[in-house]
Amino acid sequence: MQQFIDSYDFTGKKAIVRVDFNVPLNENFEITDDTRIRRAMPTLKKVLEKGGSVIIMSHLGRPKKVDAKFSLKHIVARVSECLGVPVQFAEDCQKAQEQAAALKPGEALLLENLRYYAEEEGKPRGLAEDATDEEKKAAKAAVKESQKEFVKTLASYADCYINDAFGTAHRAHGSTALIAKYFPEDKMFGYLMEGEIKAIDNVLKNAERPLTAIIGGSKVSSKLAVLKNLVGKVDNLIIGGGMGYTFIKAQGGQIGNSLHEDDLMPDALDILATAKEKGVNISLSVETLAADDFSASANTQVVPTNAIPEGWEGVDAGPASLQNWKNIILNSKTILWNGPVGVFEIDAFAKGTLQIAEDLAEATAAGAYTLVGGGDSVAAVTKMGYADKVSYVSTGGGAMLEAIEGKELPGIAAVRE
Ligand code: AMP
Repeated sequence: MQQFIDSYDFTGKKAIVRVDFNVPLNENFEITDDTRIRRAMPTLKKVLEKGGSVIIMSHLGRPKKVDAKFSLKHIVARVSECLGVPVQFAEDCQKAQEQAAALKPGEALLLENLRYYAEEEGKPRGLAEDATDEEKKAAKAAVKESQKEFVKTLASYADCYINDAFGTAHRAHGSTALIAKYFPEDKMFGYLMEGEIKAIDNVLKNAERPLTAIIGGSKVSSKLAVLKNLVGKVDNLIIGGGMGYTFIKAQGGQIGNSLHEDDLMPDALDILATAKEKGVNISLSVETLAADDFSASANTQVVPTNAIPEGWEGVDAGPASLQNWKNIILNSKTILWNGPVGVFEIDAFAKGTLQIAEDLAEATAAGAYTLVGGGDSVAAVTKMGYADKVSYVSTGGGAMLEAIEGKELPGIAAVRE
């Protein structure tokens, strides 16, 4: 049965907490952005305050074997500083029995990178390039088998399990999903995870209408499932960025050299037809900033999105598109934003994305619920200084995308089951 941090009695208990401390490090192994560490603190501090101790586990990067570059020892000092107690370190996440057993209430232990072990992800490593299908199958079965012991060992350290790692909730890994079954009566979400789940529910389950989704980014192919799920749920679907040109071309527009995917044109037409059937308003770009080169020094001109000259490519939304979108956004009560509406990494092409961030801030100030989630749009609102002017900024790129595809995330299901 799922428990809740606020009501669970942690007195004298050891909690094993899956966090996402996958922070960026520079060449001297210094943390360049500690957001992920700070966002896990409310959960960890709560357990300590309530008389428990914590065994903290995370991955860092994508090591394929033990590799000092990806060691969590680089972050022990910062975690200690944030938590306000000296954090002990276990150099092997599978050999921490004694250290875990010795923990007293109020103490904390950080386990070494879970991904030093193939068992965390449950995928075989070191297979020869010319391995046969049989060999691959056998290797997969072997790692799945040893994964059971791996997870059991982690579970043996603690009395209860907390998952506070939304960033990996879409993966059915040892520490994110499989471990939960060892704590049938003592498993729960951390505050960060609870916040993310609530934010998704606010948009996909309990949205106040009108509900608008703004989906941008580069390719239709990477967000096809998102578009297909949303078109059945929202009142307005704004499609911007590089992916918009496939929709324009599919309807017979001239898009010059803009990014597009011919093989996805039938899907684009399907989405438009479904929207029509369901009475959903799809708003595509009507005006585009076109450039004659994909660079900051390019010449630019504003043109209708369906009449982009040859040799020019759409790199940002034009003023008329932005005005249409602003009207929709300011008339909405719930707004989800995923993906930039232009090549925002180049300042000259970032105006559209900045305008969307401003519109969202204005809608939020006027009482709308606004969720920004998934990869680049989070980077965009943060870069532009709007992160605290929207209702919620998700910490999980891939996890948020899968959630808005309508999938049940394994890390969430395992605690709820
Ligand atoms: P995604 O990861 O799918 O959200 O895509 C984000 C990327 O889409 C960013 O790197 C943007 O530069 C890119 N992008 C947005 N609009 C365009 C465009 N019109 N042409 C090419 N790339 C774009």
